[in-house]
Amino acid sequence: MKKQELFNKVLAFFEKTMDATETELDFGSNFQLLVAVVLSAQCTDKRINMVTPKLFADYPDAETMAEATPEVIYEYIKSVSYPNNKAKHLVGLAQGLVKNFGGVVPSTLEELTTLPGVGRKTANVVQAVAFHKAALAVDTHVFRVSHRLGLVPKRCTTPYSVEIALKKYIPEHQVAAGHYWILLHGRYTCMARKPLCSKCGLAELCPSRKQFLDS
Ligand code: SF4
Repeated sequence: MKKQELFNKVLAFFEKTMDATETELDFGSNFQLLVAVVLSAQCTDKRINMVTPKLFADYPDAETMAEATPEVIYEYIKSVSYPNNKAKHLVGLAQGLVKNFGGVVPSTLEELTTLPGVGRKTANVVQAVAFHKAALAVDTHVFRVSHRLGLVPKRCTTPYSVEIALKKYIPEHQVAAGHYWILLHGRYTCMARKPLCSKCGLAELCPSRKQFLDS
């Protein structure tokens, strides 16, 4: 099967079966989205949605969070992974937003990645969800599923190379949703340890299915 044909079939399947096209994180503004995405690194969205209501009630925007200390923010987020570093990043990024962007979340990769704790992956999620840009964040789920389905060549060993390879075949208007569909497939069906191949709607297309069904 030609690569574009494989992509078309995978995207068509997701379009038909997935409701969501954005994020499972709860937020009420671009600033809150950015905070939630930074917090979600190596943690579950469910856990983040448990801590952010109180955090956002007391620190709803960059101006208020820029005045806080990491120690205070830590108390709100101590149940998420790496709370010390994340507390420092949140205060630092709030201060960076106030100082350099008038408290407003910028829309470009270059600007977003000047903020503490904001790497390419976080910036791509914010660009896609907040600004509806054709940005594709490659996290551990997207990386794994892309390889298992044979969407990207084996030589793509970095998130950046997977991002470039995926964007070659996903139509621009579907990049943001496509990323999220692949992510959800990895989160709920094609899990790292025990993928649910026998229940997977993409099994017929998947070159990795046999490996897992036989094991
Ligand atoms: Fe993942 Fe298995 Fe589905 Fe392939 S068949 S995408 S390995 S769950």
